[in-house]
Amino acid sequence: MKNLIVGAGLSGCALANKIAAELNEDVLIIDKRNHIAGNIYDYKDIETGITVHKYGPHIFHTNNKEVWDFLSQFTKWHPFFFKPNTVIEGNIVTLPFNLKTLYELFPDETAAKIETKLINTYGFGTKISISQLRNNNDTTINFIANYIYENVYKHYTEKQWGTNINDINSSVINRLLIHISNDCRYFQDKFQAIPLNGYTKMIENMLNHPNIEVNLETEFKDINTSDFSRIIYTGSIDELFNYKYGLLPYRSLIFDTMKINKEYFLKSAMTTFPNNYNFTRITEHKYFLDEKASHTIVTFEYPTEYKTDKNERYYPINNEKTLIMYNKYLNEVHKKKNLFVLGRLGNYKYYNMDTIVENAINLFKEKIK
Ligand SMILES: Cc1cc2nc3c(=O)[nH]c(=O)nc-3n(C[C@H](O)[C@H](O)[C@H](O)COP(=O)(O)OP(=O)(O)OC[C@H]3O[C@@H](n4cnc5c(N)ncnc54)[C@H](O)[C@@H]3O)c2cc1C
Repeated sequence: MKNLIVGAGLSGCALANKIAAELNEDVLIIDKRNHIAGNIYDYKDIETGITVHKYGPHIFHTNNKEVWDFLSQFTKWHPFFFKPNTVIEGNIVTLPFNLKTLYELFPDETAAKIETKLINTYGFGTKISISQLRNNNDTTINFIANYIYENVYKHYTEKQWGTNINDINSSVINRLLIHISNDCRYFQDKFQAIPLNGYTKMIENMLNHPNIEVNLETEFKDINTSDFSRIIYTGSIDELFNYKYGLLPYRSLIFDTMKINKEYFLKSAMTTFPNNYNFTRITEHKYFLDEKASHTIVTFEYPTEYKTDKNERYYPINNEKTLIMYNKYLNEVHKKKNLFVLGRLGNYKYYNMDTIVENAINLFKEKIK
């Protein structure tokens, strides 16, 4: 059996490893980029030794032990709790919004009054959405709900998606919860870490198998598919069928990375700027692996429109219309024997890295093995 995997991102590489190692079959994995690892690609800046996440900050987190154990074959880990900041009225404060954030923004007496009300209403240790908070009619809760909505959610979301917040599905806005506790961690998963030698090294180890061949700077359209008995495609599903049902829309990003002659620029690995500037956030890379250097490297992230073949696809724009279009493409996939789609582009869905690996493992178990 000869397998073709299109895309050397986490999806394609996890599956390539499973097929090569467990089925002892040959795999050719191709990518149009000049590097492996897809969007989790990182590299070491030679001058400073700082590991840079080229396509935005990536923090691995999961509750799935099978996924954790699978990846642990290819890397050791640097334990890392993601504790970002946000800027509100010029103050750098903790994000997600929690009880500590109240004391960073308000006089102690006001913060204590709001804190007591929140704890009495929702219970200490709970997590609530901004919609839940805004639906409460109590005067104190109403005040803090509107304050958080305006300063944390509204302008960030509008910048991120380039549209009015009222046109955005509330599930997107409600993803980031408010913590009625002092838990400043962005994620609460059992396992949270960064690969000790970087994501690219982890992927390199995954591909290091005699049955796997990697061809970079290779487009799917230039491959003779009749040479392969199974094809797994992790690119955008609309491109696979020449956009016959229309273009699936995405939101794109511009990453502006620079070296700064300063030991540290900001207080944590990531700071969001909901209310100022055109960028949404700044990533300071040396925090991820606690790398020491006299300089620092930061990336300013600007959301932008996705234009076919001009820039990269990052976030799928999921709504009723795009779901109908996606299902037409998926139907085409199902008509073909031994063609499978996988990953954030193949499935047209935002997935965290752990779900990406889980999906690759499940596809292997259910359809390939
Ligand atoms: C800004 C940002 C930050 C993120 N941060 C986190 C985080 O902190 N934690 C987390 O868990 N997840 C995070 N994610 C999600 C994470 O990036 C994805 O889960 C993961 O990268 C998806 O892997 P993939 O293999 O499906 O896709 P990709 O990594 O995009 O790989 C697909 C590959 O296919 C190649 N390809 C496409 N079409 C073709 C073609 N026609 N021919 C040849 N090659 C092709 C592409 O070049 C690409 O390399 C983040 C995502 C973004 C956008």
